[in-house]
Amino acid sequence: MSSAAKPSLGRETQIRFLKGVGPRRAALLEQLGLCRARDLLEYYPRGYEFIPPVRDLADLLADQPATVVGEVADLRYIGRSRPPRLEVRLRDETGDCRLVWFHGGFLRNAFLPGDRIAAWGKTSRYQETVQLVNPQWRRVEDRREMIDQQAAGRAIYPAMGQLRSGEIARILHDNLDALLDLTQERFDAEYRRQRQIPARQEALRWIHCPADDEQLARARRRLKYDELFLMELGIALRREKLQRGRTAYRLEMDAKLDERIRRRFPFSLTPDQDKVIAEICGDLARERPMNRLCQGDVGSGKTVVALYAALAAIGRGLQVAIMAPTEILAEQHFLGIERYLQYSRVRRCLLVGGLTGGRRRRQLEEIRTGQIDIVVGTQALLQQDVEFQQLALVVVDEQHKFGVRQRQRIRSKGRSADGGQLDPHCLVMTATPIPRTLALTVFGDLEISTIEHLPPGRRQITTRWVPPEARDSAYAFIRDKVRQGEQAYFVYPRLEESCPNPADGEVLKSAVTEQRHLQNEVFSELRVALLHGQMPRPDKQQIMEDFRRRRIDILVATVVIEVGIDVPNATIMVIEHADRFGLAQLHQLRGRIGRGQRPSYCLLFAGDASEIARQRLEIMTETQNGFRIAEEDLRLRGPGEFFGTAQHGLPNLKIANLIEDMDLLQMARRDAFGLAKKDHDLQAPEHQPLRRALQEQFGDDLILGDVG
Ligand code: ADP
Ligand code: MG
Repeated sequence: MSSAAKPSLGRETQIRFLKGVGPRRAALLEQLGLCRARDLLEYYPRGYEFIPPVRDLADLLADQPATVVGEVADLRYIGRSRPPRLEVRLRDETGDCRLVWFHGGFLRNAFLPGDRIAAWGKTSRYQETVQLVNPQWRRVEDRREMIDQQAAGRAIYPAMGQLRSGEIARILHDNLDALLDLTQERFDAEYRRQRQIPARQEALRWIHCPADDEQLARARRRLKYDELFLMELGIALRREKLQRGRTAYRLEMDAKLDERIRRRFPFSLTPDQDKVIAEICGDLARERPMNRLCQGDVGSGKTVVALYAALAAIGRGLQVAIMAPTEILAEQHFLGIERYLQYSRVRRCLLVGGLTGGRRRRQLEEIRTGQIDIVVGTQALLQQDVEFQQLALVVVDEQHKFGVRQRQRIRSKGRSADGGQLDPHCLVMTATPIPRTLALTVFGDLEISTIEHLPPGRRQITTRWVPPEARDSAYAFIRDKVRQGEQAYFVYPRLEESCPNPADGEVLKSAVTEQRHLQNEVFSELRVALLHGQMPRPDKQQIMEDFRRRRIDILVATVVIEVGIDVPNATIMVIEHADRFGLAQLHQLRGRIGRGQRPSYCLLFAGDASEIARQRLEIMTETQNGFRIAEEDLRLRGPGEFFGTAQHGLPNLKIANLIEDMDLLQMARRDAFGLAKKDHDLQAPEHQPLRRALQEQFGDDLILGDVG
C-alpha cells in the first residue's frame, strides 16, 4: 500500500477514520467520550515514563538512574533460591553488568545469549559489580535508538478496559501530524511571549511526546492556560450579556445621606466595612445593575453593610427587599435591622408565610403602592403576587441556597415609575467564605467584596476535641460555667432517634432524646430546653426569647441554630457527633458563640473519626479564620463536592487544577475579562479561533443565543 497520500482530516472527522482505528477501537474510544478524531488530541496522558540517560557499562556507578544497552552474555534462572531469580550478564564494548529479576521466571524464555537489549532503572552495588534490579527492558537494534529517546517521556494514557495505554499512544503517534494540522492558534506571538506560553500546536505535540521535562512543563502551562482562559471567557461573556442593555436606578451618595445613615449605628464602622460600603456605593452609582457578593464570617458585621446599602436606596425614595433562606432567618434579620431603625421613619415589614387573609392583602397593597420601604422575607418575596412600586435593591442572604435562576426572578421584580423596566441592584451576603477558586469560577459573574476582620470586641474561642472518656469532665466544666451565669448550646446532627448507621452500626444521639437525658440525668438542677425547625413558630419564638432572657441555661438544638441566633451570654457550644458535620457547618455553628465579653468554648464531641473527619476536627481546633477553613474544606472535599450538589457549575477540567493552578487562573481571568470588554460578541477577525473553540466547548447559546 502506498503511503504517499497523507490522510486529510477535518474538524468533524469521526475517530474511526484515523489510521490504526478499526471498528473495535472506535467503539472503545467512543466510550471514553472521544468521538471526533481531534478529541484525541485533548486526551492527555496521565503520566510519563522518562528513560534515564544511556551509560557505558564501564562508567556505571551505583545508585544512579541509568539506561544500559548491550548483548546478553549469559543468563541463568535460579529457581531454588528464595525468592527465585533470573540473572543476566549484559556486555558492551566497555564492560559488563548484572541484571537481576526477582521472581523472574516469566522472563526465562524472553531472551537468549546474543540478544541485544536495553534495560533501565536505578543501579545498585552487588559485591564488586554494579547491577540493575528488576529493570524495565526492551529489545533494541542499537544504542542510538535509546540515545534518541533518553530524557524523552513515554506518555502513559488513562487506559480503559480493553484499550491499553500503549494502543492509545500508538494511535496518537501515528496520527499526530495530521491531527496537529487541525489545530488553530488562538493568540499571537506577542501575546504568547508576554505570558510565556508556547504555540498551541507545539504544546499539543509536546504533551503527547515531550523531549524532556522542560518541554512538558511548557506544554502543560499553555494547555492549562487555554482551558482556564476558555472557561473564564465563557463566564465573562455571560456577564457582559446579562449586564448589557440592563439599567438600574442610579443611586448616588452624598455626604449628607452618608452621615444620616451612619448616625443609625451606635459604633463607627470598621475599615473593612467602610471598604465594602465604598465598593457597593460605586456599583449603585452606575446605571448597570450591581451584582455583588459580600462575604464575611458570622459576626463580621455584614448586616450593617447591607443596611447601609438599603438606606442608600431608601434615602432616594426607593424600595428594598431583603431575602433570607428560611423564615427563622428572615425574622432574625428583621429583628436585627429593627435595632438600628428604632425611631426612624423607615417603614418596614416582615412578609412571611404565616401571614394570611386580610393582613397579607393589606401588606401587599402597601408594598405595591410604595408605602413600605423595606420588605424582609423569604423566597416568597419572589412570588407572583408580590409587586413593588420601585424596587431598587435586593439583598439576598446566604447565596448557597439561591441560584442563578432566583437572581433572574429578582430582576423581574424591578419596575420604574413610568412603568419601564429597571433592574434592581443585587447584593448577595454570605457567611460561608468562598475560597478564591470558586470566587473565580462558580461565582465568577459576581463582583466580590470581603469583610476579613471582625469588629472590635469579639472574643477568641477555644476549641477542643473531646473524646468519649473526657465527656464527664466536659459536663462538669459546663456546669461550672452555667453556675457563673453563662449559657450553652448543645447541637445534634439529628432531631429524632435514628436507626443504626449501616456503615458502622453507630446509633446517633438525637436532640429529642438527649434533651431528656441531659435534663433528667446530667443537668437536673439546670434548665434544659429543646429547639428545632419543626416546632410551631410561636413555640420557637418563645424558646428563643426565653434563652435570650436567660430563663434557659442550655439550649439543645439541631442545626436550626446554625445561623441567626445572637445571644452574647452563650459562651459554650457543644457539637455532638462533630465528626458527622462538614467544616463549613462546624464553623458556622461555632460562630454562634464568642459574641460577648467572656471567653467562649467550642467542644467537639467525637469518638473514632475517619481520617477526613479527623483532619476536619484538627483544622477546627487550629484556626478560627473562615477563609482558611473554607480553603481547607475545598482541599479535603475537592471542588466538585464542595457544594454537595451536582449543580455546582464547576467545569470539568482536563488538565488544569483549580486549586493548584491559582496563578494561571487569575491571569487567564484577567485576560478573558479584558477581552470580553473589548469584543463582547467576539466579532473581531483575530478572535475567530477563540469563538470557534468556545462554541465547540459550550455550544452556540453561550455567545449567540439568549442566556437570560
Ligand atoms: P453578620 O451579619 O456578619 O453576622 P452583624 O452585622 O450581625 O454580623 O454584626 C455582628 C455583631 O457585631 C453585632 O452585634 C453588631 O452590633 C456588631 N458590630 C457590627 N459592626 C460593628 C462595628 N463597626 N463596631 C462594633 N460592633 C459592630
Ligand atoms: Mg447577619
